[in-house]
Amino acid sequence: MPLLVTGTIGIDTVQTPEASADRVSGGSCAYFAVAAAFHHKPVRIVGVVGGDWPEDHAQLLSSIQGLCLEGLERRESSKTFAWGGRYFDNMNQRETLFTELGVLEEAPPIVPESYKDSRIIFLANSHPSVQMDLLNQFPDRVLAVADTMDLWINIAHDELLKVFKVIDGVIINDSEAELLTNINNPISAARRIIQLGPKFVIVKKGEHGAILVHEDGIAALPAYPLDQTQVVDPTGAGDSFAGGFMGYLAASGHSDFATMQAAMAWGTVTASFALGSFGLEGLVGTTRNDLDARMIDYKRITLVS
Ligand code: AMP
Repeated sequence: MPLLVTGTIGIDTVQTPEASADRVSGGSCAYFAVAAAFHHKPVRIVGVVGGDWPEDHAQLLSSIQGLCLEGLERRESSKTFAWGGRYFDNMNQRETLFTELGVLEEAPPIVPESYKDSRIIFLANSHPSVQMDLLNQFPDRVLAVADTMDLWINIAHDELLKVFKVIDGVIINDSEAELLTNINNPISAARRIIQLGPKFVIVKKGEHGAILVHEDGIAALPAYPLDQTQVVDPTGAGDSFAGGFMGYLAASGHSDFATMQAAMAWGTVTASFALGSFGLEGLVGTTRNDLDARMIDYKRITLVS
C-alpha cells in the first residue's frame, strides 16, 4: 500500500560530548523516509526546502532507492528548516539550541496528483497545522500516524489536539508524552493520549526501548544494545524507528496488534543504524543484509521469536 510522509527536510547542527557536526542532512521526514524505504517502496515524500539546501544533501536523498521525491518542493528564495541540538553526557537527553523554521512558516508543500492514491500516511514532526492540511487531502486513508515534539506542544497545542482527534496512532518520546499530559509514567501518559483520539500510542524511551499501548494490549521492546563507540549521534533515531515501524506495516498490509509488535522490532533495529554516524549517513551506509543480520541478533538477545 502506498506510504506517504510529510515533515521536515532539514539542516542539522549537532554537538555530542565527543564530537560535533555542522549543517548535516536531517529532518524528521528525511530520517523517516530513508528508514521506511528499507521495508517498503515507494515512500512518497511531501516536503519543502529552500534555495540554501546543500547539493550533497539533495544527492544523498536522490541516491536512496524507493524514495519518491516528486512532492519535494524547492523554493529558491526561502530558507531551509534548520535545527541545532546538544546532547548531554548520557546521550539520552538533549537540548535544542536553535530552530529556524524557514520554509515551514510559509504555505505547506503541494501534494502531487500522482500521490493521491496514498493510503498510509505518516505525519512526521512538523507544525500541526501543516499535518492537518495534509491529512485533509487524504479522506480515503486507511492508517494515519503522527509524531510531535516539545516545540509544537508548547506553541501549537490546540492545533495538535485537532490532529490527535482524527489520527489512528501517535509515536512520541517519553519526555514529550509527559509534557503533553503532565504524567510521568509512559503507560498512563499513553492512555491519556488515547483519550484524545488515537487508537494506539507508542512511547519511545531512547536507549530504554519503546512501549506500545493499544486497545488490544501493551507491548514493550528493548532498544538494540549499543556500546559507547557505536553511538555517535542519536539525532533522528526516533524518526528512523517510526520509519521502520510504518514501512513494515505498509509492506505487510496489516495493522493489528501482533503485526505492530513485529513492526516495533523492525523499527528498533532500523533505528539502531541511525545512531552510528552524524546525519543520514548511518542509515545510508546500511544494507538490507546488515538489517537482517542485526534482526537475527536482536531476536537472540531479546529472546523474541
Ligand atoms: P529525533 O532525534 O528523532 O527527535 O529527530 C530529530 C530530527 O528532527 C532532526 O533531524 C531535526 O532536523 C528535526 N527536528 C528538530 N526539531 C523539529 C521540529 N520542531 N519540527 C520538525 N522537525 C524537527
